[in-house]
Amino acid sequence: MNASAHQRIVRIAALPAVHRAFQWLHLQEQRFRQWQIDLTRIPAPPFGEAKRAAWTLEQMQTLSLTSTGIDGAGNAIGYLRPPVPGEPLLLLSAHLDTVFPQETAIDVREDGDLLHAPGICDNGAGVAGLLALIGSILHAGLPLATNILFAANVGEEAEGNLRGMRHLFHGEMGPRITTAIALEGSGTETVVTRALGSKRFQVTVAGPGGHSWTDAGRANPIVTLARAIAELTPHSLLEDPRTTINVGTIQGGTSVTAIPEVATALFDLRSVDEGELLASEVRLFRAVEDAVLAANLSPGKDLSTEENLRFHIRSIGDRPAATLPEDSPLLQTIQAVDRHLGIRTSERVGSTDANLPLSLGIQAVAIGAGGRGGGIHTLREWYDPRGREIALRRILLTLVDRCDLK
Ligand SMILES: [Zn+2]
Repeated sequence: MNASAHQRIVRIAALPAVHRAFQWLHLQEQRFRQWQIDLTRIPAPPFGEAKRAAWTLEQMQTLSLTSTGIDGAGNAIGYLRPPVPGEPLLLLSAHLDTVFPQETAIDVREDGDLLHAPGICDNGAGVAGLLALIGSILHAGLPLATNILFAANVGEEAEGNLRGMRHLFHGEMGPRITTAIALEGSGTETVVTRALGSKRFQVTVAGPGGHSWTDAGRANPIVTLARAIAELTPHSLLEDPRTTINVGTIQGGTSVTAIPEVATALFDLRSVDEGELLASEVRLFRAVEDAVLAANLSPGKDLSTEENLRFHIRSIGDRPAATLPEDSPLLQTIQAVDRHLGIRTSERVGSTDANLPLSLGIQAVAIGAGGRGGGIHTLREWYDPRGREIALRRILLTLVDRCDLK
């Protein structure tokens, strides 16, 4: 705990402009709730976020955010004030996308305070929080020294592969972002400071196929892929450092009476340790290669190469593992804010938009946007907004301290 950070927070929390911002947050819960309901009703599957981005942009403009627009990746963005070339920026973001396909019926059900709908918490809570913070900062006229780039970004979930963040950090503004805060779901105490690394692969095994009776003996892609999966199974969970391998989907074949021509499976490899993640990748490649080689050399098989199986392993996702240093100014600010508000800081490991800046050595966290939620990534997802206000105060104080006052 840093004593001077704590003194700064005490001073900031006493400022009239900060009180105006808190007051606005206190009075607008009904509006936040309505934002969350309205945006959750707009489907936003991976690569299909455009409508939700347009809706968010409209809210940003209604709140009088400056220099707004949709960027090249489809992120809805805006600034605290018109950006000046070369100035540093703080990025405050919340991802727009959900894991649910376009056709998922989204009906927001209200049950007292509780809201039920797929995506209501992840990341309905985050985007509503982003708009709430924009509203409070602009309403209170907080005299922040560092400009803020606000982004409701695309591509956080699964196959989105952080493309919204990649665009922001690899684009023109990227080198100027010194701090990044991603609003992620619910929670008041949590802060993700360790980025869980993941690598995702599509493995395809293909061969000539044939008739189940007359061509019997030819190598079978489904059997071969299954052998590779069985070979990986003993390595599917390592506790320390926690490392996992999952096969999530498997497809292949056309008929019960045909030797299949193709079999495909999707693998998700995760670890808190970059070295173990690499070791898992090597295991996957080796298991597939060994299974295909064994199939091609199996006794009874025609040894001509036309009858051989082939394989192809394609990367469909890559999120590096990284950790926010304990002495980073951002983490010290959050700890000081939490001390001031009486919150017990709970540092977590996560696979979030913060992975990207952390991997670039930029201080970043993912932080809960308040309230409570559950059933994440299922049709039973729910959100309880009670307590949202304290989490928004927490993030606001963090922003003011990291941006400094003019
Ligand atoms: Zn999320």
